[in-house]
Amino acid sequence: MATAEIITIGTELLLGEIPDTNSQYLAKALNDEGFDVFRVTTVGDNVTRISQVIREALRRSDLIITTGGLGPTIDDPTRDAVALAFDVSTVYHEELWEQIEARFRSFNRLPTENNQRQAYIPANATAIENKVGTAPAFYIVHQDIFLCSLPGVPSEMQFLFVNHIKPLIRKYLPTNSVLLTTIIHTIGIGESHIDQLIGNFERLQNPTVGLAAHMGSVDIRISAKACDKQTAQEMIQPVLKNIQALLGKYIYGYDQQNLFAVLRDLLVSQDSNIVFKISPKLNKLDNILTQLQTEVAENLVKNQYNNTNRKYIKMDITFHDIDEKTRLTVSLDGGPKNNVEDFTFSNDISVFDEWVFNQTMGSLYKLLK
Ligand code: ATP
Ligand code: MG
Repeated sequence: MATAEIITIGTELLLGEIPDTNSQYLAKALNDEGFDVFRVTTVGDNVTRISQVIREALRRSDLIITTGGLGPTIDDPTRDAVALAFDVSTVYHEELWEQIEARFRSFNRLPTENNQRQAYIPANATAIENKVGTAPAFYIVHQDIFLCSLPGVPSEMQFLFVNHIKPLIRKYLPTNSVLLTTIIHTIGIGESHIDQLIGNFERLQNPTVGLAAHMGSVDIRISAKACDKQTAQEMIQPVLKNIQALLGKYIYGYDQQNLFAVLRDLLVSQDSNIVFKISPKLNKLDNILTQLQTEVAENLVKNQYNNTNRKYIKMDITFHDIDEKTRLTVSLDGGPKNNVEDFTFSNDISVFDEWVFNQTMGSLYKLLK
C-alpha cells in the first residue's frame, strides 16, 4: 500500500490563528484514494525548516503534498524550500508569468513585481496552472516518489487537487486498492459499554473497527482495504453482522442516514405523529420537533393513510436545574409502550443542543422500535 504524508505550511497555523482544514480535507481524500496517510506535519514559513521536513518525508513516503506558502511575498517560502530539499535551484518560467498576467488582466489589475516570484519553480518541477488563483502549483516525480505543492487557500487547493493531482497520482502511484467504510449509528448506549461489547473487533487489522462518540450517540466505523470494492464489502460483512447481533436494538441507521429522517419514516410507517410540550421552552428543540411533526403530517397525507386510526405519541419534555447540572426528563405516552427517561448533563453548554436532541430523539426511537 502506498504511503502518503501531508505538510501544511504557514506560521498562522502554528499560532493557532486558523484551523488546518487543508490537512483534514487531504487526509480524507487520500484515504479515499487508497493511501495509508501516516503523517501530517505543520511547519512555519521558514525555508530551512520546511526543506528539512520535506527531506525526511522523501525518505519514508511515496506521496507528499504540501499546502501554503506559494504566494508572491518573501515570506512565501515553499518554492525555495522544495528546491533546497532536492538540491536544485528555482527556474523562471515565462509561460507561468504569462498566466499570472492574464489572470490579473481578467480582474482589470496589473501584477506587481513581487508576483514574478510566482513564475519560479524548482528546476525539477512541472508547473500546474492555477485557474482559480494566481499562485501556480507544481509537482515533482522523483524516483518512485510523487511530491506536489498546492496553494494554501482551501478552495484553490481543493480545485487543484481534484482536477490535476488526483489524475496524476492515479497515473504515477496506482495503489490498486480501495478503502471502503461502513458507519453504524447507535443511540441510547454509551461508548464504554459499546467498547466492552465489541472490544475484540477493535483489535482487528483489516477491516479496522473504531468508535466515534458524539453527545449522546456513538458511531462505529468499519473500514476495509482490498484490491476492489466487492472484496472490501465481503470483508466488512461478517464484522457488520456480528456487531449487529451484539448491538441490534441500539442501531438506528447506517452511513448517511440521520436520526431525524429515521424517526420521521418510522412514525409515518406506524401511522403515528407526535404532540409535545417542552418546559421551560427550548427554542431549538421546539423547532426540531415542530419540523418533525410537520414532515410526518405531510408524508401521512401523501401516503393517503386513513387517519381514523392515527396514533399520537405525547412527548412531555422538562428541564430542571440541579446544582451545576441539568436534568432532562422525557415522558412518552401513546406508543407501543410508555416510557419515562431521565438524563443528567453537567457539561459544556456549547454541546448542550446536540445532547438534548440525541437524548430526546433517542427516547422516541426506543419507544417506536
Ligand atoms: P496566496 O497566493 O493566497 O498567498 P499561498 O499558497 O501563499 O497563497 P498561504 O499564504 O500560505 O497560501 O495561505 C493563504 C490563506 O489560505 C491563509 O491566509 C489561510 O487563510 C488559508 N490557509 C493556508 N493554509 C491553510 C490550511 N492548512 N488550512 C486552512 N486554511 C489555510
Ligand atoms: Mg501567502
